[in-house]
Amino acid sequence: MMPQLDPLEIERVRRFGEVHTFAAGEALFTAGQVGHGLIVILAGSVDISQRGQSGQSIPILVHGAGQFMGELAQMAGRPALVDAIAREPVEALIIAPDRLRGLLVAEAELGERIMRALILRRVGLLETGAGGPIIVGRAENGDVLRLQSFLRRNGHPQQILNPETDAEAKALIERFHVDPGQLPIVLCPSGQLLRNPSEDELARCIGLVGPIDPNRLYDVAVVGAGPAGLATAVYAASEGLSVLVLDCRAFGGQAGASARIENYLGFPTGITGGALMARAYNQAQKFGAEMAIPDQVSGLNASGEAGRFVLELFDGERVNARSIVIASGARYRRLAVDHLDAFEATSVHYWASPLEAKLCASQEIALVGAGNSAGQAAVFLAEQGARVRMLVRGPGLSATMSRYLIDRIEGHANIEVVTGAAVSGLEGRDGILDEVRWRLGATGEEVRRPICHLFLFIGADPNTDWLAGTGVALDGKGFVLTGEDAGGQRHALETSRRGVFAIGDVRATSVKRVAAAVGEGAQVVAALHSFLAAAASDPVTAATPLAPTQNP
Ligand SMILES: Cc1cc2nc3c(=O)[nH]c(=O)nc-3n(C[C@H](O)[C@H](O)[C@H](O)COP(=O)(O)OP(=O)(O)OC[C@H]3O[C@@H](n4cnc5c(N)ncnc54)[C@H](O)[C@@H]3O)c2cc1C
Repeated sequence: MMPQLDPLEIERVRRFGEVHTFAAGEALFTAGQVGHGLIVILAGSVDISQRGQSGQSIPILVHGAGQFMGELAQMAGRPALVDAIAREPVEALIIAPDRLRGLLVAEAELGERIMRALILRRVGLLETGAGGPIIVGRAENGDVLRLQSFLRRNGHPQQILNPETDAEAKALIERFHVDPGQLPIVLCPSGQLLRNPSEDELARCIGLVGPIDPNRLYDVAVVGAGPAGLATAVYAASEGLSVLVLDCRAFGGQAGASARIENYLGFPTGITGGALMARAYNQAQKFGAEMAIPDQVSGLNASGEAGRFVLELFDGERVNARSIVIASGARYRRLAVDHLDAFEATSVHYWASPLEAKLCASQEIALVGAGNSAGQAAVFLAEQGARVRMLVRGPGLSATMSRYLIDRIEGHANIEVVTGAAVSGLEGRDGILDEVRWRLGATGEEVRRPICHLFLFIGADPNTDWLAGTGVALDGKGFVLTGEDAGGQRHALETSRRGVFAIGDVRATSVKRVAAAVGEGAQVVAALHSFLAAAASDPVTAATPLAPTQNP
């Protein structure tokens, strides 16, 4: 976490930066503001501190000569999470984010040590919540859960303060004259206060996402930062293409929701989807892929100029790119039962992360689904202490779930599989569920249980609404057609529009697995190269749609 560079190593990194001096007491970077990049201290020492709820400085550590300052925010050119103040006159080598990425790639061994330190420092900040926004609200409040889950999935630190018991929370409420009905409030590191913000407002306030340059022309714009989109970003950026990845929620996609992926090559002990995807996200940025998260794509147009596509974003922004990769995956299905939406903020869950596990530890819960994602979630929640009623519509799990998961479920005393069961009703008050009913197909009996948390893992539909009217052909279920199915004479992953490719779960006939999505992300890059090369020599022909196919 705190490597010391020796004089030879410092000489090697000098070519990537510029030397600056700072007076004693001067800030090298400030929480909430975009810093200069990675800073290697050549002489002097620097205090690193975080801000308390009332703005007071809380020391974290002191960096001395030969050490470097920064964490993942510095690599991505995002606002710093902590303050750095010179204790004495300081001479430092400043390596700007793009040069830092160059260093990480060019200096393999040293780059690995630096990268590891940047990641471990972020992990440290995530553990303490230091440097992130402060959310004031009750932990079980639906909006607190929404904001907390958004920040957690984006790997951003945060602190939650209870307005009833925490003195600092009470002080903030008084200072900003907040009515209890306006909670939760969020205090951003910049000092700005948000009242129950949307995820987008919060992301912009803390600098997770910024404006997109309307004049920039990317080689490839990727829609979706799940495993397929991130794999494209890693391979395309590492091979020198300029890449922008957009996602409307967080990096990781569905895989980010997986409690434990055990069938991904190279991880014999399994890995949480969040950890696997965070690695891919950092790796893509190391190679220079740019991220716009959260940013929702609402449409795809051809530009008036040959060889140029335009992605329309929900907030009115536009992205220009020479080629497009659709990696927008699939979204969870909702259950057709009355009042579901009334309980979705607090009691109905589509993910089983440590956050949800904490909410329902040692309680009885209902979990609907019979696929691998349902099995993983059931095992994870049971291991965290929940008593799981697994409601399965069919006669068993063997037709839909991998054998290793069935064995694990059978061996778990906390899981009861109820077959032939369909949820028939939900009861509760003020958005909080307190009873789940299900009907047993065999006897017609309706079972009622006092259950406050319902987990749904009942499959997914393709995220292709945004492609309506764009000329990209879909199959009867809304998945994107590619290759011969899209009209012939196309690359295997190319859609009915030349230069527009589709990969991963969103693609018709794809294998709905992390490894398959990653494989297609790697494979599409070869197709991008050949399309871009053809477009460079003849932009008009390369961008002309071939025999357009009609959407059903
Ligand atoms: C709980 C769970 C557990 C799983 N466990 C496993 C497992 O153990 N092993 C395995 O192999 N597979 C597993 N899967 C399946 C696997 O996660 C998927 O096959 C894989 O994530 C598909 O990747 P993708 O990149 O194609 O799409 P997704 O993962 O669906 O990612 C698509 C991304 O696109 C974004 N997006 C959608 N529309 C837009 C838009 N208009 N603008 C911007 N962004 C948009 C979404 O926000 C999302 O982040 C699991 C799935 C779930 C839900």
